[in-house]
Amino acid sequence: MVEDAGGTAAIEKLAAAIAECRRCPLWMNTSHAVPGEGNAHASLMFIGEAPGKQEDLTGRPFVGRAGRLLDDLLAGIGLSRESVFIANIVKHRPPGNRDPRPEDIRACTPYLEEQIRTVGPKVIVMLGRHSSRYILSHLHVEFDRITEIRGRVYRGVLFGRPVSLIPTLHPAAALYNPGYREALEEDFRVIERELAAADVSTTKD
Ligand code: URA
Repeated sequence: MVEDAGGTAAIEKLAAAIAECRRCPLWMNTSHAVPGEGNAHASLMFIGEAPGKQEDLTGRPFVGRAGRLLDDLLAGIGLSRESVFIANIVKHRPPGNRDPRPEDIRACTPYLEEQIRTVGPKVIVMLGRHSSRYILSHLHVEFDRITEIRGRVYRGVLFGRPVSLIPTLHPAAALYNPGYREALEEDFRVIERELAAADVSTTKD
């Protein structure tokens, strides 16, 4: 479909711009930008924090151990990685995997905003506190700890479109804490229900 080609082309154009981006200094210590990938018309979008070592080496999001857990969680609700869109708030790996700083997030989020506008997901899942804090700030939702709000559904309007926002734990946190894996599985069942309620399969078109 022509419409499909448009969304995919826009996502590819953004990826090319991100690869050349010099809006902040993070690119200087990296091998690749990690713009994000997946279905340009996905109903479901995931937003992580920032690329780690494996992601920097490959230029692809969530390909390390946390990524394998994300794949398992998706499979648990009958979804493949190819059917969703996966992005991060910061597109270049911070040195030593440090937390993204406010200035990194400020410089990089115009790209994420454009990805959200282009893909137009019905449900956005924020993996961890950084992406949850950034996205939920648009709905004036504040929180101290991600564990307080994980698994809740916030329905609102983001960048002009109605959307359901679901914060959850970052899968990396569950690698060292089996209790967190259970919590993630519980939150993925919330995602499954919200997609069903939005009356969508995995893609909108
Ligand atoms: N952690 C993230 O937040 N994003 C990735 O792409 C990989 C690990």
